[in-house]
Amino acid sequence: MSPPAATFENPVAVSGFTMPVKKTLNNLAVKPAVNGQAKTLAEMEDKWESFTFSPIRESQVSRAMTRRYFTDLDNYAESDIVIVGAGSCGLSTAYELAKKRPDLKIAIVEAGVAPGGGAWLGGQLFSAMVMRKPADAFLNDLGVPYEDEGDFVVVKHAALFTSTLLSKVLSFPNIKLFNATAVEDLITRPNPTASDPNAVRIAGVVTNWTLVSMHHDDQSCMDPNTINAPLVISTTGHDGPFGAFCVKRLVSMQQLEKLGGMRGLDMRTAEDAIVKRTREVVKGLIVGGMELSEVDGANRMGPTFGAMALSGVKAAEEALKVIDERKVENSE
Ligand SMILES: Cc1cc2nc3c(=O)[nH]c(=O)nc-3n(C[C@H](O)[C@H](O)[C@H](O)COP(=O)(O)OP(=O)(O)OC[C@H]3O[C@@H](n4cnc5c(N)ncnc54)[C@H](O)[C@@H]3O)c2cc1C
Repeated sequence: MSPPAATFENPVAVSGFTMPVKKTLNNLAVKPAVNGQAKTLAEMEDKWESFTFSPIRESQVSRAMTRRYFTDLDNYAESDIVIVGAGSCGLSTAYELAKKRPDLKIAIVEAGVAPGGGAWLGGQLFSAMVMRKPADAFLNDLGVPYEDEGDFVVVKHAALFTSTLLSKVLSFPNIKLFNATAVEDLITRPNPTASDPNAVRIAGVVTNWTLVSMHHDDQSCMDPNTINAPLVISTTGHDGPFGAFCVKRLVSMQQLEKLGGMRGLDMRTAEDAIVKRTREVVKGLIVGGMELSEVDGANRMGPTFGAMALSGVKAAEEALKVIDERKVENSE
């Protein structure tokens, strides 16, 4: 019978990086699983009196988590692509990228504890999610069922779309989600190919636990951490307590003159504008989703989500056009 999961027998290997771990723990006797323990739910049925979990020691739980997390921090300190924000656009971007390029190491940094951004509900907290065609192609690719209403489709629960997308994204071996972690700043390098001598290219992100980020005003000396990457894709949503983070920072570091600001609601023009204009706004930084409405002064679109999914598809396409070139620049 196999021992409990966290027994320190094997080192953890993550694409080229191996973390040394202890071979044995003298004071920890690893007990085999209880004889006759059920292997299936059917075998457990009506046997709850004799039921018992496999043995564990609290330190095993602690080490099983921390060893993996710190290995990930080490491994993803140099990423190929960082996606900032795990809303519908960021997750769609991650899905397309990971599917097309399993060789790329992709870190997603999400400020919230729960990834998914604003896509757990439709408008005014209603359950259904509306997507205008041809965004149904993205739902078909994911395998999310919907009702066809002619020019648009309706997913019964927005949460069904988001949970399906999230589960697929997190299943890719080349993706790591750092949630409860905020991007506090951007890493920059001079950009000698630009005509403006003050122009920079983006070369990664500066991060911190979100709870720490929220307390810079009342606690001092809480320095951040970093992730280097030749390409950052920002999808932090429209302006709000956290939103539009990267593009606001571009303005304050004088890489964008000003923001256009999100305009009034016009579903007819808003969605096309966001998808078509998803692009590399400054070298090394692609912007998609509602964050882009703040750059371009595009209209808000209300509770229709096709543009978020297809902006993600376009962001991935734009990323794959430049990633190899940005990698070379970043290694210099
Ligand atoms: C009150 C309200 C009203 C809205 N009204 C409209 C509307 O009229 N029209 C419309 O189109 N949309 C509206 N939205 C937003 C709607 O949810 C979005 O259209 C859609 O969710 C945008 O998708 P997104 O992926 O671009 O961004 P979001 O779903 O907003 O996801 C952005 C993600 O980025 C994360 N994030 C932000 N900053 C950082 C950071 N610094 N570091 C790490 N992560 C970060 C956030 O936590 C979030 O998970 C509204 C949202 C709210 C809350």
